[in-house]
Amino acid sequence: MAEPIIGIIGGTGLGQTLLGEVRGDSHDAATPFGKPSGPIIRATWEGVEIAFLARHGDGHVFCPSAVPYRANIYALKALGVTHVIASGATGSLREELRPRDLVLVDQIIDKTTRRPTTFFDEPGLAVHAEFAEPFCPSLRRALLASADGIETTVHDGGTYVCMEGPAFSTIAESRMHRSWGGDLIGMTCMPEAKLAREAEMCYALVALPTDYDCWRPHDPSKDKQALLAEIIGNVEAATTNCVALIKATLRSMAGESPATCSCGDALALGIWTNRDHVSPATVERYGVLLARHFQQ
Ligand SMILES: [Zn+2]
Repeated sequence: MAEPIIGIIGGTGLGQTLLGEVRGDSHDAATPFGKPSGPIIRATWEGVEIAFLARHGDGHVFCPSAVPYRANIYALKALGVTHVIASGATGSLREELRPRDLVLVDQIIDKTTRRPTTFFDEPGLAVHAEFAEPFCPSLRRALLASADGIETTVHDGGTYVCMEGPAFSTIAESRMHRSWGGDLIGMTCMPEAKLAREAEMCYALVALPTDYDCWRPHDPSKDKQALLAEIIGNVEAATTNCVALIKATLRSMAGESPATCSCGDALALGIWTNRDHVSPATVERYGVLLARHFQQ
């Protein structure tokens, strides 16, 4: 099997940091789903082919609801990306998930309300991807196996509640998310993870808890400025650790065939429309997403 090409989607903190660090060819890709958040940088990094994209764009110009998730995932797929390692800043819903820790989340509760959640939303084709395990188990294992040398606690598993935002939760909502079994609250994991599955790419997310969500009372001795400074310091420290974890994981993947998982064949049983009823125009529209399933 060919060596993997790793897509890296940098969230808050990491996106801007890596824009300054990764040097390579810049690709301005147009897709059937519009333009991605920004140019994609192709490079060899830690011995591995990567394609890097800052989720919120250069200068953090896209709010979570406005991120062009479909264009981002499509553009990475079109460049031959097989695996995506994403990062995302989150609020912690658990005492033990401390700011500056890293969390390799394994489940999602999707509370978003106004984002396209699938590529396949046009008449002419019905596609249903399995999503019981929203993150690739092999890629999560690779990240976890690289966590030993990282100077913070890396947690194995956690449920990410994805909210629409952009305002943060009320205290009642934060308590409710805890009662649901949520461990972290964020705004960007969905539909990104679902689209990666539809695009048959392995996808894992490193969550960066930057503070405790509002279920936990703030330290009354700190004013708002002090709390904000603390959060910014947490983002910076977590970003440094997350970059170190991703680099270590890339080194471990260099020259290795990717471990077996079913992500790369996610649509094998997912195309429910009778093939005879799928028009060439439909196959054309979805381009790299469907090409291998409709080869003559
Ligand atoms: Zn996989």
